[in-house]
Amino acid sequence: MTEPRTPRNFIREIIEEDLRTGKYGGRVATRFPPEPNGYLHIGHAKSICLNFGIAEDYGGTCNLRFDDSNPEKEDVEYVEAIKEDVRWLGFQWDRLTHASDYFDQLYEYALRLIRKGKAYVDSLPPEKIREFRGTLTEPGIESPYRNRSVEENLDLFQRMRAGEFPDGAHVLRAKIDMASPNLNMRDPVLYRIKHVPHHRTGDHWCIYPMYDYVHPLSDAIECITHSLCTLEFEDHRPLYDWVIREVGTECVPRQIEFARLQLEYTVMSKRRLQVLVSEGHVDGWDDPRMPTISGLRRRGYTPASIRDFAERIGVTKKDAVIRMTVLENCVRDDLNAHAPRVMGVLEPLKVTIRNYPEDQEEWLPAANHPNRPEMGSREIPFCRELYIERADFMEHPPRKFFRLAPGREVRLRYAYLITCEEVIKDAEGNVVELICTYDPQSRGGTAPDGRKVKGTLHWVSARHAFSAEVRLYDRLFRVPNPGVKGDFLADLNPDSIRVLHGCQLEPSLGNAAPGQHFQFERQGYFCVDSRAFTGGRRVFNRTVTLRDTWAKIERELATR
Ligand code: ATP
Ligand code: MG
Repeated sequence: MTEPRTPRNFIREIIEEDLRTGKYGGRVATRFPPEPNGYLHIGHAKSICLNFGIAEDYGGTCNLRFDDSNPEKEDVEYVEAIKEDVRWLGFQWDRLTHASDYFDQLYEYALRLIRKGKAYVDSLPPEKIREFRGTLTEPGIESPYRNRSVEENLDLFQRMRAGEFPDGAHVLRAKIDMASPNLNMRDPVLYRIKHVPHHRTGDHWCIYPMYDYVHPLSDAIECITHSLCTLEFEDHRPLYDWVIREVGTECVPRQIEFARLQLEYTVMSKRRLQVLVSEGHVDGWDDPRMPTISGLRRRGYTPASIRDFAERIGVTKKDAVIRMTVLENCVRDDLNAHAPRVMGVLEPLKVTIRNYPEDQEEWLPAANHPNRPEMGSREIPFCRELYIERADFMEHPPRKFFRLAPGREVRLRYAYLITCEEVIKDAEGNVVELICTYDPQSRGGTAPDGRKVKGTLHWVSARHAFSAEVRLYDRLFRVPNPGVKGDFLADLNPDSIRVLHGCQLEPSLGNAAPGQHFQFERQGYFCVDSRAFTGGRRVFNRTVTLRDTWAKIERELATR
């Protein structure tokens, strides 16, 4: 067998063992089963990479199954977005299925359970059912309807389906054990009445099956071998196995649980993400600050960086909170290798080169990537009027500030050495322009006499640059674990976005396509926003800074 390219984990070990023993006839079949009630997030990406990755590596199959048995919260908008996200991550499903495809069959299976005496119609009101369920320390109480005859149960269940009863009048329950130490086994509800249309089956059904009933049976119907889910379903596994055993399906899948992804400085429950969107705290599901796959894409994350993240965090049974820097480093590494380098000045300060002829301009060669010559080079214009970054000049520089200051010489990347001769200020004393001179002998950035120049600055030609909006993002929440001390909205980071207008970018960026990635030298990685691309206007999103500024801040705080 060939070495799998992903690291080993306990799930792969189980699968390899099953392949050795021929448990499923050498078959590996997984599925990714989202509920279409929101957009996918980075946690789902972990599950997608796991399920599709296993299918790829073991020559198996992976279905995309919409777990759509909860009609109120579901919508086709979400279905389409989920498909797009899975494809964008680079995976292709074998079959696209829906739990609702199986509603007829699930109904037949329910009749089978009733006939076997394994399910009954309960007519207790919902609050009584809850009350009779008992607690972790006390057993439940059997419903007075528990011992209805098979005939009566069949009759009532068929009439439930026919729409004879209002919501809440009856439910179908599994008949297991009201004294089980596992609350999930205390006669769980299998079907409830809901007079609600479904986005696929319309008004055909007014009873809908519950997750713990739909899920194992959908797996069995699709002949899934390994049904991977997150740890909170561990206590549901006995019920999963019970349903499959009592219905007596031909295929018998096995549920295996792994720890869900938890990530610092964000929230991942779809309920909370929904609140962020509907209350307008963010600009939609694909806001670049959102942990959704569509948000990360718009922010500038690449599919490769997210797949790499899934590999780096691994798959275990132990809950752990992953640091945001792990995710950020994945995209940094990918973009460092692949993103072309360009120059853009975010907060411009005008520089005039006094000894550069007014009517002259030249185009200087600049490499698109410092160590990948195959990525080619471009020419960038130089002239008498330039912009540099405001933060690259200080009138009274402290020690260790190696950038521009009065009387000091620095290198302009790919261009010349310049010296600051004069500082021009406005009436309020703000620096508005620098008058410099350049050394005509230093083209390319080295002085003929080999004199040392410490600082190298990025810059653009003021005559050729174009003005653009740049959005700088920071973490959406200002604490690692939003909502631990109450309302998660109170932990939103008020400075999670900074919009800069009038940034000056080198002319080659004028042709950049939506979604294209760049490294702005010395600044970070940016991409062209795909939404704000209208009429040739480009907005650039900062994906991530070059260095990990947060880690630095945290280190500094720790050593104080
Ligand atoms: P949410 O809490 O965001 O609503 P969910 O589990 O209800 O999550 P589903 O659409 O039901 O969302 O999930 C589809 C699949 O993705 C499930 O198999 C689920 O276990 C998995 N999944 C969801 N969140 C995570 C996560 N944070 N880490 C790993 N897998 C996850
Ligand atoms: Mg769910």
